[in-house]
Amino acid sequence: MSTDVIRTQVAIIGAGPAGLLLGRLLALQGIDAVILENRSREYVEARIRAGVLEHPAVDLLTEAGVGDRLHAEGLRHDGIYLQWPGERHRIDFPKLCGRSVWVYGQTEVVKDLIDARLEAGLPLLFDISDTAIHDVETDRPRVTFTDADGVARTLEADFVAGCDGFHGVSRPTIPDHLRTTWERVYPFAWLGILAEVAPSTDELIYAWHPDGFALHSMRSTTRSRLYVQVDPSEKVEDWSDDRVWEALATRMALPGWSLQSGPVIEKSITPMRSFVSAPMRHGRLLLAGDAAHIVPPTGAKGLNLAAADVKVLFEALDSFYRTGSTALLDAYSDTALHRVWRATHFSWWMTSMLHPATGPGADPFDHQLQLSQLKYVTSSEAASASLAENYTGMPFA
Ligand SMILES: Cc1cc2nc3c(=O)[nH]c(=O)nc-3n(C[C@H](O)[C@H](O)[C@H](O)COP(=O)(O)OP(=O)(O)OC[C@H]3O[C@@H](n4cnc5c(N)ncnc54)[C@H](O)[C@@H]3O)c2cc1C
Repeated sequence: MSTDVIRTQVAIIGAGPAGLLLGRLLALQGIDAVILENRSREYVEARIRAGVLEHPAVDLLTEAGVGDRLHAEGLRHDGIYLQWPGERHRIDFPKLCGRSVWVYGQTEVVKDLIDARLEAGLPLLFDISDTAIHDVETDRPRVTFTDADGVARTLEADFVAGCDGFHGVSRPTIPDHLRTTWERVYPFAWLGILAEVAPSTDELIYAWHPDGFALHSMRSTTRSRLYVQVDPSEKVEDWSDDRVWEALATRMALPGWSLQSGPVIEKSITPMRSFVSAPMRHGRLLLAGDAAHIVPPTGAKGLNLAAADVKVLFEALDSFYRTGSTALLDAYSDTALHRVWRATHFSWWMTSMLHPATGPGADPFDHQLQLSQLKYVTSSEAASASLAENYTGMPFA
């Protein structure tokens, strides 16, 4: 096997939203980067995940010149519904905080960013393996990997951006004794389906029900994305399509409203966890997105936090290359973690309010507290404004 050496300014590990968006912003400023991805292009473009973009994330994608399809095909939502048995209430975002959110699948964001990068002829290597990071405590860090043809390669860079998600190699490169982690594993999971059926609602419905939480989301005017709270030990094979539709119809029932079912094209169970690792920088290795933190999906924050990290990281790298100053790089971890903890709290709060304990361990006292919180948040303008400004996204730092 031969070893080829490639030289770049920023080595980006991971072609998820974080790595691709960072590569795009750097390219617009003429800063070289190579993006390494261990999956195929087809796999990355088909991975069904997030679907709600915060207002500041939409602004960032638009400024980065990858917002055309988002604005043409994405659905702007000016609110969400919160529901409990017998009642459904709308939270009006523009009225409460002057912002909105956009429903546009993460798959589409990723496709737009990959198209832009490949059209510009910039390096994005899929199907690599054996990724390893070296010498991040020096000013000449390296990433070694095996390319799609089985050739062992070395990428030499000024910086390594660890955008390789929760299971990547970047975070474990930071020695254990220098890292602090915080974690909350929730005692429930989401069973999600993607269905070829027009949404039965104009905006997302978050429903509390004694059987468990349910969410009606969507990906387009013809595709619905729906979730039910299940025990983390549940097996997806035990949930037939009919059983999922029945659970959804029960938990979201409202007089005068009905749920349209249709062919299910994807079904999976996602565990729920909050996780933060700090610092987000070690020497010349900088973490962004799920590589450093995970939130439960209830607050629709994961993809948006990845975009927020990337904006801060891009500005720090841009400042370094323009002025030679490391001030913003030195501040990167603290600046990013400020928003990370706000989103971590909001996601935990939404999750705690909407997911009742079920089965023999269910405590009716907790249920009453959740219902009281829901009634307060939908009746107090101050409480609904707090939800609205967190959900639509605080302005980026
Ligand atoms: C079911 C579900 C629903 C969600 N809903 C929402 C939502 O509504 N709103 C929201 O904002 N967020 C949501 N999220 C979270 C969101 O999808 C993630 O936060 C987002 O993908 C983070 O982007 P990222 O680029 O940091 O990481 P990732 O998307 O995980 O990308 C990391 C990339 O690195 C690659 N990689 C990993 N290891 C290596 C390696 N060793 N070498 C090279 N490449 C590597 C991976 O293949 C991947 O392509 C949801 C997540 C799930 C699972």
